[in-house]
Amino acid sequence: MKRTKIVNLLKADEKSLGQEFLVKGWVRTKRASKNIAFININDGSVIHNIQAVADVNNIDNEVLQNITTGASVAVEGVLIESQGKGQKYELEAKKVDLLGKADPEKYPIQPKKHSLEFLREVAHLRFRTNTFGAVNRIRHHMIFAVHKFFNDKGFYNIHTPIITGSDAEGAGEMFKVTTLDFDNTPRTEDGKVDYKKDFFGKATNLTVSGQLEGELAALALSEIYTFGPTFRAENSNTKRHLAEFWMIEPEMAFYDIHDNMDLAEEMLKYLIRYALDHCKDDLQFLNDRQKEEDSKKPANEREPMELIEKLNFILENDFERITYTQAFDVLRNSKPNKKGKFAFPVKEWGVDLQSEHERYLVEKHYKKPVIVTDYPKAIKSFYMKQNDDGKTVRGMDVLFPSIGEIIGGSQREEDYDKLHRRMEEMNIPKEEMWWFLDTRRFGTVEHSGYGLGFERLMLFVTGMGNIRDVIPFPRTPQNAEF
Ligand code: ATP
Ligand code: MN
Repeated sequence: MKRTKIVNLLKADEKSLGQEFLVKGWVRTKRASKNIAFININDGSVIHNIQAVADVNNIDNEVLQNITTGASVAVEGVLIESQGKGQKYELEAKKVDLLGKADPEKYPIQPKKHSLEFLREVAHLRFRTNTFGAVNRIRHHMIFAVHKFFNDKGFYNIHTPIITGSDAEGAGEMFKVTTLDFDNTPRTEDGKVDYKKDFFGKATNLTVSGQLEGELAALALSEIYTFGPTFRAENSNTKRHLAEFWMIEPEMAFYDIHDNMDLAEEMLKYLIRYALDHCKDDLQFLNDRQKEEDSKKPANEREPMELIEKLNFILENDFERITYTQAFDVLRNSKPNKKGKFAFPVKEWGVDLQSEHERYLVEKHYKKPVIVTDYPKAIKSFYMKQNDDGKTVRGMDVLFPSIGEIIGGSQREEDYDKLHRRMEEMNIPKEEMWWFLDTRRFGTVEHSGYGLGFERLMLFVTGMGNIRDVIPFPRTPQNAEF
């Protein structure tokens, strides 16, 4: 008999009642009395289990003993309406096969609540929990939705390099890529490492962003996006930073910063709507999970909204668009600033916004997502378009409740002379970047783009609190086990 996935079995119509099906999966729980055993099976296709009800006398005793949490089984049986509460259907088992045992003394995932910290230590098995099943199914739908959104708008997906020869992207500390022998590194006459002898004949790193190469493609294909892995060797052990994460970076010719903001807002709303439409059961599970966790916290640490309510809230509100200078004024005059409650006090125009400031703007002041533009040029990258005031650049950050910055982007400087001068001021190696400058020499046009950290989006959509729990295998300082 062919195997039926549980997701399809639970969707079956009345006509399937009384028919035989074969289900394969992993045992979540087993309860057995003298005559009857209830086996709850999950195969990951959906958050729900199917319950198999078996006559104990029909199952080999050793098989029954070994049907424990985590074991894999194949059950053939008749689909019937469930007698118990909480499920529509169950399987009246005719045949129960044990596929793989899971020694209950050693199997770490038991049918009880495990802490997320503990589950990170057994990340190879945490897929088998409801929480990580839900997160990873949602992750898949979000990946698919990103491609669908851009494809439907006529954007082209570009693969930008993972190994990069430029260290000028400027977005963070980089990981070196080398085949040189550390115990016997070739040196130049002045004692420096001789990268001419390295694999690529020059120093190379893992990319921190696909933007610069994305711009090259946009200045020919008009509207492109990248969606690839990026790497940052920043030693920041926060709940929002990974050393390896995935980034979505659209880059568009003929877009100014307003077009850029419109696209960012439209995209975020599309992705959130997509999750609400396609991940109902998983979101409901995470919603209820968060509510339960929250109820154990002191009132001032609780989430102001339930997860699904928060997602709908994004859809219902226009994002507030303000300049850095407006944000600065709000923050400087804010209660927490005056009372010394910010870890980073807001005193002088020009300071970078910290996530505590970003969250204050979103959660307390405007009470909706906020896009901040026109940042001081000193705190932003060399490639951002310079404003006529000589002080600010056309950067834009999109700020969300709970997480702060979710998107960073800008209108790009398309003027060769201005870009060249800024690179000089900021000590960006122009010689290495000749190819980037070339786009401003040949057929330059107004253009814009941004980067959305995919795991930041995942944090928001799932309501999970730690970025280590929204990527299957997190890479963080001192941690690359699985
Ligand atoms: P932050 O200030 O939060 O560190 P950033 O200013 O370094 O962010 P950008 O260089 O603008 O971020 O990167 C674009 C986007 O990539 C950010 O808006 C964020 O969504 C995401 N991002 C940046 N660094 C990380 C990281 N270490 N782990 C996961 N996502 C990240
Ligand atoms: Mn950073």
